[in-house]
Amino acid sequence: MAVLDRGSFVSTYKHAVLLALMDLCLEHGGRHGEPPSAISTAQVARKVTELYWPQARPFSFAGEPARVLRQSSGPQARILSLVEEYRERARLAPGTSLHRQRSVDPDGVARLEREVEWRLVQMPLPKLQRVGRRVDPFLYEIGWGDDVRRGDFARPSGFDNLLRFRPGAARCLVALAPVLRPMIHRQWALLVTRLNEIPESRVESFLFERDRAAVAGLAGPLLEIQRGRCFYCDGPVADREVDHFVPWSRHPDDGIANLVVADSRCNRNKSDFIADLGHLERWGERLHEYAPDLSTVAGAHGWPRDEAVTTAVVRSIYGALPSDVPLWAAVDRFAPLDVLRLRTVLDRLPTWR
Ligand SMILES: [Zn+2]
Repeated sequence: MAVLDRGSFVSTYKHAVLLALMDLCLEHGGRHGEPPSAISTAQVARKVTELYWPQARPFSFAGEPARVLRQSSGPQARILSLVEEYRERARLAPGTSLHRQRSVDPDGVARLEREVEWRLVQMPLPKLQRVGRRVDPFLYEIGWGDDVRRGDFARPSGFDNLLRFRPGAARCLVALAPVLRPMIHRQWALLVTRLNEIPESRVESFLFERDRAAVAGLAGPLLEIQRGRCFYCDGPVADREVDHFVPWSRHPDDGIANLVVADSRCNRNKSDFIADLGHLERWGERLHEYAPDLSTVAGAHGWPRDEAVTTAVVRSIYGALPSDVPLWAAVDRFAPLDVLRLRTVLDRLPTWR
């Protein structure tokens, strides 16, 4: 809240770093959702690249030529230009996903992410926790300062690349994620609106929304794996919809493991709620039983699949829930969370690493 409250943003870097930290805490939790004690600058760079990737495509609105939106009050934010330049060099179509590009050009994307990492090390990571001249490391501690040189960063043994979380900080990021994420999106979009002097209405969805049509294309093959039944009520599905098991608003994960098919009644009623433990159990069983089929579907559609990440996010999100919180069981029906049973269910989930 302190970081967001400071107001005088000249670029969107702080927003990007905060979102990246939040997502990494969700993705790298332990067996029962214990948040990580440290993450690396390389992991932050990968996340920040993912965030800016769709934002580096040209934005168009009435009557003006399409252009990449400015995200800094000075010269364009360097990280965004790096992504933009890469996209131009590779002559990518606007809709090309980073996931697809990683498989087409793994070395080029790795080089891009390494460049992004260096910019993060230089600037936003040491500056995020500074007010004026005072440094207050309330989120994480790092082992370098403003005087860091590229040569030190490049030497494998010369650079300590860890962000070590202060006690309780990672847990707070996980617990507050559902509140912080929309706030960060909103502030980020308002800043971009101001920097570009454009109407506000479409900016937020341009920056953060995923391609719904592409997800819908997976409904058929996923429904086959579910033998034509709704994932939630087990009824026959007339009007199929793809549902994010972990709601998109909690963690934006399009990975195939996070996608299930439901009839539109269940899907709409579940909305942004978290599914109850019965559903979680069956979600785990589906992963155990159908991992190869899910892999095949993902492969055929060039779709991201990282069961390890999705499972870790599930553990973090359920692990951070307070006891007795109502979870979505069925249309208009909720069940309070039983934390003892939760531990058993989490223990039975597949382990990937
Ligand atoms: Zn249903």
